[in-house]
Amino acid sequence: MNNNRYKILVIEDENNIRSFAKAILEANDYQVLTAETCGNGIMMFSSHRPDLVLLDLGLPDKDGLEFIRFLRDRQEVVPILVLSARTNEADKIEALDLGANDYITKPFGTGELLARVRAALRVSRYNGSMLASDGKFTLHDLVIDYDRRIITIAGEEIKLTQTEYNILVLLARHTGKVLTYATIIREVWGPSDDGGVKKLQVNMANLRKKLGEKPGDNRYIINELGVGYRICEETH
Ligand code: CA
Repeated sequence: MNNNRYKILVIEDENNIRSFAKAILEANDYQVLTAETCGNGIMMFSSHRPDLVLLDLGLPDKDGLEFIRFLRDRQEVVPILVLSARTNEADKIEALDLGANDYITKPFGTGELLARVRAALRVSRYNGSMLASDGKFTLHDLVIDYDRRIITIAGEEIKLTQTEYNILVLLARHTGKVLTYATIIREVWGPSDDGGVKKLQVNMANLRKKLGEKPGDNRYIINELGVGYRICEETH
C-alpha cells in the first residue's frame, strides 16, 4: 500500500451516488472522504486538504456553486469535478466559469469517473500545462511545437491560421478541463470582443477539418454540446 495515495473529497447528498463513487475510487486505491452538505464539505476540505473534489451542485443546505466560490475566493487550486444532471447546461457553464475543472453527467460509469479523475489530477500535477520538458505537446500523432509554433500530425505540418493555432494551444494548455465558449472567446479574442460563439464555431470547424476530424470524431477535440470544448486525453 503506498502512502502517497490521492485524497478525494466526495460532496454528494444522494446516498447511492456517493456510495458508488466512493466504492469505485477506493477500489482504485484512492483515499476517499465524504460529505453530504456544502457546509460539511467546506469543513472536510479545510481539515483534510484533499487533492481533488467531486461536487454535486444540488446540495440540501446550499448550492454547490457556493463551495466553488468559497475555494476560489481563497485562491485554492484544487481540481473540482462537478457532478451534474443532464438537463442543467447553465449550471455546468456557471460552475466551469467559476473555476470548476470539469463535470461528469449523472448517471456516470466507472470508466468515465476514473478517466476524469485521472485527467484532473494530471493537470494539477503539471500545474495546468501538459508541456513536456522538450517544449512540445503530444496527443496521439499530433504534436504542438511551442517554440517553433508548428503543428504536425504524423510528422506532416498542418497549416493553421493564428486564431486556429491559439485555440488549439489554449485547449492543450488546459488538458483535463472543459473550456466554456465564453472563456475561449475571452482568451483568444480578448475581453471586449463581441463576435461571440458563431465566430468561435466557424474557427473550430476549420481547425477540426484541418486536423482531419470528421463531425462526431473525438480524436483531438471534444465538443461538449452547449457548453464548450476540451482537448482529448491519451488513455494510459
Ligand atoms: Ca443532490
